[in-house]
Amino acid sequence: MSPLNNVLSSLASGSVKVVDLTAPLSADTPTLVLPEPFANLVDFSLDEVSAYNEPGPFWKHHNIHTGEHIGTHIDAPIHWISGRDGKDVSQLDPARLVGPAVVLDFSAEAAADPDFLIDVHHLRERAEAKGPFPANAWLLFRTGWDQYGHDKQAFLNLDDTGSHTPGFTVECARYIADELEISGIGVETVGIDAGNAGALEPPFPMHYYLLGADKYGITSLKNLDKLPSNGAMIVVCPLPIVGGTGAPTRVLALVQE
Ligand code: MN
Repeated sequence: MSPLNNVLSSLASGSVKVVDLTAPLSADTPTLVLPEPFANLVDFSLDEVSAYNEPGPFWKHHNIHTGEHIGTHIDAPIHWISGRDGKDVSQLDPARLVGPAVVLDFSAEAAADPDFLIDVHHLRERAEAKGPFPANAWLLFRTGWDQYGHDKQAFLNLDDTGSHTPGFTVECARYIADELEISGIGVETVGIDAGNAGALEPPFPMHYYLLGADKYGITSLKNLDKLPSNGAMIVVCPLPIVGGTGAPTRVLALVQE
């Protein structure tokens, strides 16, 4: 049997299952809120053009309005100043959008401390325990934050000292960007940096180092708890917006039962 037929017959028999890692996209989807004086993107919305009525008697269709970085979405290198001469979202190599998924679980740490930062030693310990990260892998960081996806306040966890959501140390961002031969990372939070990462140096270090190193970031993932720590395959499908700095993205995983 050919390799691809093997996958297809496994899907047909149910020994390989497709898990959707994408949050539903609607006007209620929680989105990043930048403080003054920075400008924010518009939230997602649907605008009815016809609904089997006079403007279109046999069909229903909508206009959509959305920022690029809304809901489950990808950050392309040109999103950040460090990647400004890099690829836009339409230029991402499709071969890097399909690869091994490695799940790292920090849900206990994030439950104990919403400002928890993943550090280099966590990645080294993981690689020592379960083997090195494969080339072209996507590192998917589980923090349990997807449980708040229906609740903007809880998802952003804002108070007068900022947003309290887990992320990465400066050193960890640099290590992932410069030392690992991976394609990208995925997180469950609204952004690929911690809620209070604007106070780090450089500000928002995961954005700075990852996108500057031609690696990609996905936010607002869900269902990572349905993936094994090793052995799943991820399929990342951003809209190929020409000149786009990111795009809403359907993210699927193939998981062996
Ligand atoms: Mn983004």
